[in-house]
Amino acid sequence: MTENAVPNINAPGFDVPAEMQGQVAVTNMDRLLKLLDPAYNWGRRSSIWPMMFGLACCAIEMICTAASRYDLARFGMEVMRPSPRQSDMMIVSGTVTKKMIPQIVRLYNQMPEPKYVIAMGACASGGGPFKEGYNVVSGVDKYIPVDVYVPGCPPTPQALLHGLMKLQEKIDGQSITREHWYDSDVKAVAIPVPVLGPDIIDPRDYKAIQQAAKA
Ligand code: SF4
Repeated sequence: MTENAVPNINAPGFDVPAEMQGQVAVTNMDRLLKLLDPAYNWGRRSSIWPMMFGLACCAIEMICTAASRYDLARFGMEVMRPSPRQSDMMIVSGTVTKKMIPQIVRLYNQMPEPKYVIAMGACASGGGPFKEGYNVVSGVDKYIPVDVYVPGCPPTPQALLHGLMKLQEKIDGQSITREHWYDSDVKAVAIPVPVLGPDIIDPRDYKAIQQAAKA
């Protein structure tokens, strides 16, 4: 490189020379967005809008968490919305039945990005005491992506608060440059058709069942 050549700031590994760092605030778009990440993440983690949504016994603990004793307002999460279009977090609190899962997926699809899901309790995380029941799915994560699992049957409000703090940590680690929230090709999750019967087997798929039985 000649003495007057302009350095390529987009070249991999390029760093602002130490003597210039005090005068250069932004060198390219990636770095600008990286500077914004902490402020953007702080804004989202401190103002999560949960969807008003409860399925079974775990929901009672979730409601307690939102009340005055546990004070969800400390996290900026106290305003539960009755509409998925005004929410960015779904707490799946309770037993997920096969009749309910299409509605859960539909609600998830209606939430705007970026959005998060907490599976609260043994039922939502893996089927709980009803696992492999004819009418219960073995975990909501078979149908929608889950960010945080909160164990327990039911989890205490403290456990849910811990899960919320874990979600905040996850948000802290996200970057506008890497996440696909605003991509035009973000696809909705397919809405499943509820079929009663043992999990993993769709009784209508007779051929696959035959092959599995033979194997
Ligand atoms: S995990 Fe336990 S408390 Fe929660 S919904 Fe299932 S059975 Fe009820």
